[in-house]
Order: sequence, then C-alpha cells, then structure tokens
Amino acid sequence: MITGPRQLRNDIDVYLAALIEDLIKLWVEGVDVYDASVQHSFRLHAMIFCTINDFPAYGNLSGYSVKGHHACPICEKDTSYLQLKHGKNTVYTRHRRFLKPYHLYQRMKKAINGKSEIESAPKLLTRHKVFHRAKDIITLYGKTQKKDGSDKNIWKKSKVIDPQQLDDLENEALIIICQLEMYFPPSFFDIVLKSYTKNQYRPEASIVERYVVEEAIEFCSDYIESSAHVGLPQSRHECTPQGRGTRGFNVVTIDCKQVSQAHLYVLNNILDIIPYIDAHKQNVAATIPKMNMMKVFQEHNRSIINWFRKTIITNDTASTTLNLLAVRPNLNVLTWKGYDINNYSFYPESQDHKSTVQNSGITVDAHSDHFSSVVDNNPVRASMPYFGVIQEMWELDDGQFRVPVVTP
Ligand SMILES: [Zn+2]
Repeated sequence: MITGPRQLRNDIDVYLAALIEDLIKLWVEGVDVYDASVQHSFRLHAMIFCTINDFPAYGNLSGYSVKGHHACPICEKDTSYLQLKHGKNTVYTRHRRFLKPYHLYQRMKKAINGKSEIESAPKLLTRHKVFHRAKDIITLYGKTQKKDGSDKNIWKKSKVIDPQQLDDLENEALIIICQLEMYFPPSFFDIVLKSYTKNQYRPEASIVERYVVEEAIEFCSDYIESSAHVGLPQSRHECTPQGRGTRGFNVVTIDCKQVSQAHLYVLNNILDIIPYIDAHKQNVAATIPKMNMMKVFQEHNRSIINWFRKTIITNDTASTTLNLLAVRPNLNVLTWKGYDINNYSFYPESQDHKSTVQNSGITVDAHSDHFSSVVDNNPVRASMPYFGVIQEMWELDDGQFRVPVVTP
C-alpha cells in the first residue's frame, strides 16, 4: 500500500523498479532457501502468477490507458462506447456480446436498448500477439511517459487459480451487467470508472496513516505532560467520571421489592455506610446467638434497610447524606438507554442490538464473603468477578443526589 494524497500514476515505477529487480533475480538466478520439512536447501525461483487489482491500478501496472474510447484492454479499438451528449462522459455499452452464444438476453430488444446483440465477443489476445505488440514499446519512466494504446496488458489470461470458478464468477458478473442495462440509462455505465477516479485518495491508506500518526502523537504526548493533544480525537467519555445519562430518558415505576434491592445495593456500596453495616451484622448475630453466619448475612440483608432508617432518624447528628440514604428511594426511577460513567459509555442490551458496537457487557469485581456451605461459619472475604449484560439502567433519585444502578 502506497500512501499519499494523489494517485501515483506512472510514478509507481519508482516502487515497481525494486520489485522488478527482485523478480528478475528470482527468475534468472533464484535464491537458496532451506526446506525444514526435508532438511536441506534448494534453489527457489519465482514469477508473477497473477495480480488482483481495481481498474485504475490495472491501467497503471499494465501501461494501458484504461480511460477514453479504447478503455478496455481486451476489446481495444472495438471497445463499445457512447459519448453522452450532455454530460461529457464516455460510457461503455453492449455487454451482451460477452454472454455465451445464443444467450436469451442477446435477442431481447425491448427490455434493453431496442436492439439485439448477436455478435460475438472480441477474442482475447494470444501471448504471442501480446508479446508482438509490447516488444517495441519504448518505456519512458515516470510522468513523462506517453500514452500508447498498443501497449497491452498480459495478465488477463492468467486466470489459473481455479479457471472454472473464475469463469463462473465472470459469467455471473456479466449477466448482472446485462441486467443492469435493462434498468439503467447508459450514464450508469460510467459509474464504475467514476467511483474509481474518486478513489484516488486511497481511503484505506489514509486510514492506516492516520492511525500511525495518532499513535506517534500519543506516544510523544505521554512524555510531555500537561500538553494539549493536537490531532488526537477527544474521547467522548473523558469528562464523565461522575455519570450522566446520555439518551433514552424515561421514568418508570418499579415495585417495592426492586426498590429495596436497589436500595440495599446502594447502601452496600457507599463508604460512609460501612460502620453501620458492620454494627448491624453484629446486632443480628447477637440477637440469635446460635445462628450460623450465612443465616446472619441473609437476615442482615433482609433487615438492614429498616434498621438503618430507624438508626439515622433517631440520631440528630447524622449527616444530610446519611439521612437521604436512610429514606426509601422513590418508586419512580429514571431510566436511560445510554449512560456515561467512569469514562465509559454503557447501553442496555436492547439498545446494543441496534448498534454495531457492544456497550452492554459489564464485569463487577465484587468483594464479598464466600461460604463453602450453609453451615460454614468462617466465610472467606474475597473478590470475585461477575459478568453480566445490562438490561436496564436506573437512576435512583434521592432529591439531592442521584445514584446510577444497572440491572444485569
Ligand atoms: Zn472489452
């Protein structure tokens, strides 16, 4: 892939010269190569087998002008073209002669241009003819090269990967072109060339180049702290560590059980609450001394919300935050179809189905107590990753602050 803002045209010779040099060496002398499977060296020769390219590249590599009235290297002077009156474009017609003899389409008039096309396709040049035409060409390298219509492309004959398959593909493509002729005006048959011409900016190459440049800038900017990145796209999520709904806002009413679950989750994940959680666990354990640890935890989860509320309400010194957390969240929760938080964007699974990217998967590193069995009284405090797919995204609104909750 050769990058750059313009097509190289004949300046591609600069690149091809090195390749040709190698090919000549490989053809004439060959190189010694070690064959590991039989454990000895052999002399390897190589040749160009075939090339696959678009039409402009075909022109560049062969030296044949693929534009104008003789654009087809196979038909040459018999290229069937039409100069459009109003646009100045040249379009290419009469594809039906390439169909197999007696093909139905060749006799159809009304459906196409009012004429039948029963003549046969131009014959491919033999390799001797190609050689004959090409042997006296004076090659001028680079931009100064004159256009010479007698300069032939020789690879069209190298359809040898699987001749049958390639022929089938060609026939299929041909039938499609003939069908297009039934439905589109002649100006359509310029499109192929036109779109290639636009292709001169080589989108693939520029994409690759952009990545390379970006990577270089990123590397440098890591070494120059506090410098603004020029030329790097700003991440859409960079400014959203706090969390912010981005799309699909709605309000839904959830039932008490769901609210309690969400509330419990919130309480378990706020630093200020930890002393209360520990206190409540001890409380539960003390109330029923014989209860095993797992039961204690279950009871704790069941009763912490109410206990916490009573504790906070009766405590005049408790902070506003704690007071707000003690109140059961509103049954009406805000839901979102897009949420930015911790520098990531999240979507629920339903939204992901409409998108080419996947933003609904989450892992949670949960620090919790693990029991080996129901009667295990020595749970192990461990971190365990959980994986889930987001179904809904809620924001619990406590009046003064909002807590985002996802439901996997
Ligand atoms: Zn042709």
